[in-house]
This record gives sequence, C-alpha cells and structure tokens, in this order.
Amino acid sequence: MSVAKRLKLCVIGDVGVGKTSLAERFMTGMFREKYTPTYQANHYHKHIQTPDGEVYIQIWDTSGTERFRSVGPHLLHNSHGAVLTYDVTCMPTFSSIEQYWLEWVRNIAPEDFRLILVGNKVDRTISRQVDEQVARRFSREHGLLYYETSAKSGENVELAFLEGVSLLGDVW
Ligand code: GDP
Ligand code: MG
Repeated sequence: MSVAKRLKLCVIGDVGVGKTSLAERFMTGMFREKYTPTYQANHYHKHIQTPDGEVYIQIWDTSGTERFRSVGPHLLHNSHGAVLTYDVTCMPTFSSIEQYWLEWVRNIAPEDFRLILVGNKVDRTISRQVDEQVARRFSREHGLLYYETSAKSGENVELAFLEGVSLLGDVW
C-alpha cells in the first residue's frame, strides 16, 4: 500500500519535562514512572490512519542537554515541525521556552515549520506552577498551538501529536 504522507516531528524542551514519556505514550500507549535520562536522540516511527489517508509518522525524541544543542540543528532542518514541551509543575522549564527554545528553533527551522507548545504533567494538579491562562496567552502571542498533556494519564497526548499531522496540508 502506498503511503500518502510522511511527517517528521521533533520533541524539544528541557531535561525532565517528559519528552521521552510523551513520545512513548503516543507511540506505544505506555507510561514508565522510572526516570531514564536520554543521552542521544531516539527515533520512533509508525503508520497511522487519518480521515485523509495513511500517514507515516516519525518522532525524534531529543535530549535536552547541551549535547542535543549541537545535534539539534541538523534534526530540525529535516523535520516538519516540533512539539515544544515544558513541565507545568516546573516554572524554569516554561521560562526556558520563552528565553531559549522558541528563539533557537525559529532561528534554524525551515520557514513553514510547525510549532506546537505542550504543557506536560497536568495530572500533578497540586504541584502546578505555570498558570494555564499565562501559557495560553504566551502561545497566542507567539502564534503557537497549545495543548496541556499528561504522558502519565494519556490526556491530550494523541491530540497534540495529531495536530502536527493535521497541519500537514497537501504539501507532500
Ligand atoms: P525527558 O527528559 O524530557 O525525556 O523526560 P522523561 O520523559 O524522561 O520524564 C522525566 C520524569 O517525569 C520521569 O520520571 C517520568 O516518569 C515523569 N513524567 C513524564 N511525564 C509525566 C507526566 O505527564 N506526569 C507525571 N506525573 N510524570 C511524568
Ligand atoms: Mg528523554
């Protein structure tokens, strides 16, 4: 069977925000409590069915460390979009989206690059540090789509990644 569309997305953000957990949840439907740092970019792929036909989706799960910052530009050049991730229970990870990641991505990504902002770990309600309205306003101001997710419960994970798919349009 021929594959109608191909989509390559990167998951980007500080270490510990849940990038690996989101990619795994989306790809396998599973969640692991144990923390295993990602030292290099992991790559997942699968075929998904959408109302518009089949999509071959590749997800690049990156490491948030300095090491990624050197591999990153190459990965971004070959991607259609990125899921910019922060942790709603950790204000510094949101600050780094504002102060670092957004500009970094926009400086090196191709022109029609799609960006989706994701606030992860919303299941940890009591520990929340980043106000949803603040994040939504920020997203509007910067032209980003915004989703609040939990890799643990699975809430909104599919939606956030599939937003990338639906943004594909007919370019390929
Ligand atoms: P990464 O460094 O961005 O890849 O983050 P990981 O995916 O390795 O997750 C870091 C830690 O946060 C791990 O212990 C995960 O189990 C935990 N974690 C990730 N996503 C969630 C979530 O949505 N809710 C909760 N409660 N914990 C999460
Ligand atoms: Mg990781």
